[in-house]
Amino acid sequence: MKIICIGRNYRAHAEELGNAVPEEPVVFCKPDSALLPPRNPFVIPPWTSDVHHEIEWVVRISKVGKYIEPRFAYSYLDAMTVGLDFTARDLQTQLKNKGLPWERAKGFDGSAVLGSWVPIPSEPADHVIRLEKNGVAVQQGSTADFLHSVENLIAFVSQHFTLKKGDVLFTGTPAGVGPVAPGDRLEGFLNGESRLRLNVR
Ligand code: ZN
Repeated sequence: MKIICIGRNYRAHAEELGNAVPEEPVVFCKPDSALLPPRNPFVIPPWTSDVHHEIEWVVRISKVGKYIEPRFAYSYLDAMTVGLDFTARDLQTQLKNKGLPWERAKGFDGSAVLGSWVPIPSEPADHVIRLEKNGVAVQQGSTADFLHSVENLIAFVSQHFTLKKGDVLFTGTPAGVGPVAPGDRLEGFLNGESRLRLNVR
């Protein structure tokens, strides 16, 4: 399965990192080895001292598709949850400054965390996501504030990558990203329901 991620899909988050608000979606992928096995803790790698949490609305692809038109894109989704796109911000900044790909900062082992899936509603709707760190809300957002709708993201990504059943799409993070430390407890919510919990080591 592929893990496809969107960057800078909320204006406030693009601005907090000092990035231009993009006209086209920013797309990157994580290898399947990035997926944190269920119920495992997240272990901070030894080569970074600044791993950030990014809570995101995540959707799952239900069938094969390429060159999908936006008006049909929603029918390619069957489930949704929240996920964490862990990012080694120190390494990402170094790579960005050199104009190099981000993969090592974004695709390392354990950097993709998925919550428990729920069926996606039959019609598109707005969804609220929230991340709590040690019981305190640190990130909150609504898909109503997307720069690019999920239909447009699916259509855009499928111009480049054939989408397959079981692939997942991380749709970008709202403002409020920040570092995690050993001992932190993270809990992610979708529409007020807890869907993801993990400990940081
Ligand atoms: Zn992200």
